[in-house]
Amino acid sequence: LVVGVPKEIKDNENRVAVQPDGVAELVHHGHRVVVQAGAGLGSRFPDAEYVAAGAEVLATADEVFAAADLIVKVKEPIPAEYHRFREGQQLFTYLHLAADKQLTQFLLDKKIDSIAYETVELPGRKLPLLTPMSEVAGRMAVQAAAHALESPSGGAGILMGGVPGTPAARVTIIGGGVSGTEAAKIALGMRALVTVFDTNPARLAYLSDIFGGRLDLVTPNRARTAAYIAESDVVIGAVLVPGAKAPKLVSREMVASMRPGSVVVDIAIDQGGCIETSRPTTHSDPTFVEEGVVHYCVANIPGAVARTSTLALTSATLPYLVTVADCGVAAAASGDPALRHGLSTLRGHLVTRPVADSLELAFT
Ligand code: NAD
Repeated sequence: LVVGVPKEIKDNENRVAVQPDGVAELVHHGHRVVVQAGAGLGSRFPDAEYVAAGAEVLATADEVFAAADLIVKVKEPIPAEYHRFREGQQLFTYLHLAADKQLTQFLLDKKIDSIAYETVELPGRKLPLLTPMSEVAGRMAVQAAAHALESPSGGAGILMGGVPGTPAARVTIIGGGVSGTEAAKIALGMRALVTVFDTNPARLAYLSDIFGGRLDLVTPNRARTAAYIAESDVVIGAVLVPGAKAPKLVSREMVASMRPGSVVVDIAIDQGGCIETSRPTTHSDPTFVEEGVVHYCVANIPGAVARTSTLALTSATLPYLVTVADCGVAAAASGDPALRHGLSTLRGHLVTRPVADSLELAFT
């Protein structure tokens, strides 16, 4: 099979879907790998390393798409890339189709067989290809919040952990899953006072065990949420309801009740956001002020730490990519239940029910 790795073209998206040692693995399995020139540069992988691993480097995206049977990417295709796809081509990447009817319709019309990273699922509701990026986003969220709290960023001029004799920042994290837990670790490491809300009692029990009392753990309701938000210097939105748009848990009034120069980071913005005042931003212009509160709502947070993110993402995706390349999308999905969960479109049919339901399209 010919595997194609184009350069990512979203704003400040410097990740790449395969690193050179992944090329070597695919070549070992008998595949031909074509990589667009410069695809790895944003993650500090020069073309020469791809060539040394056995890839052919092609000058343009058009050439990569024309040569490949299977396209492997990081972010979902955007309209500027649609014309490059051939009917019947295969695609393995993040797709976020529930939020993108245009892309879904395009994949169906072009009869592209696709598997979405974020819905590949192991038993126990584990999402092995979303987890590494949620880990990065959770850790980065606190870095972004600390920066936004600084006076030159429009923040209240508060140092996250304070110094002895001054109060530390109060950080409230809504959702104690993968990204929320990583955010909590970094915020605690900076010596902030940290609260985590989660509706899942088993998750709260787990966090209680691993953090041993250093975290304030709360079962949320509306009044409790309002009371905590009003006293917070930083609120981090990190909820996920699989397959659905994020619930709006923090209202505009709650944001307005925060002290001026406080900070909101909505990690869940890629699923629509869980804070009423948030809207998607980019790394080129990451923050805005609403109700006197600095908002950071970047939809591809890991793209800013591309080297780390590429290493983390490709370590997780490579074993699945090898299976998809060896068998093809359809057979790989029939043979592996985790990949079957991620199967999104197949020969013009939409085969994922949550996406069909949220877009009101036929599930076949
Ligand atoms: P996760 O499933 O590991 O955790 C979500 C947690 O939210 C769960 O523990 C769940 O019990 C909890 N939850 C659900 N409803 C809740 C409610 N009403 N109140 C409180 N808690 C509730 O999810 P994750 O992997 O941490 O991902 C979180 C979000 O971050 C997702 O939308 C994901 O797509 C997004 N994400 C964004 C970026 C980015 O760049 N912006 C990067 C990676 C992930």
